[in-house]
Amino acid sequence: MDILNICQTKIHVVKKMIEATVITLWIFFAVYATWYFTSAKHYAPLTASDARILWKIHKQTAKCSSRRWREIRRGRKIVGFACECGYKYMQKRPIATSTPQQTTTQSPTVIYQKLHRA
Ligand SMILES: [Zn+2]
Repeated sequence: MDILNICQTKIHVVKKMIEATVITLWIFFAVYATWYFTSAKHYAPLTASDARILWKIHKQTAKCSSRRWREIRRGRKIVGFACECGYKYMQKRPIATSTPQQTTTQSPTVIYQKLHRA
């Protein structure tokens, strides 16, 4: 009887462990997915000349001797650059202005002010 009981509790523990692992994986996946989608939204567009200037700054700061770079695009917009050396730069909006709460509460008043000033 004792052996049987031990076996059953072991199976129980294994089942619990599998459940816990599955839940953890789902949480991890959910967090990763939200991070991925929210961070992708927060890329700020750059002009080609901005990207070029930033690349030159990278060359100076990193003492990089690469001569080529390419634009990183999100749709039609340039959001960063990739240097020949493997360095990548992505322009992101400041965290303070990218929070949805601020944009939803501030943008209507900003539009209102703009309309009434013009
Ligand atoms: Zn470089």
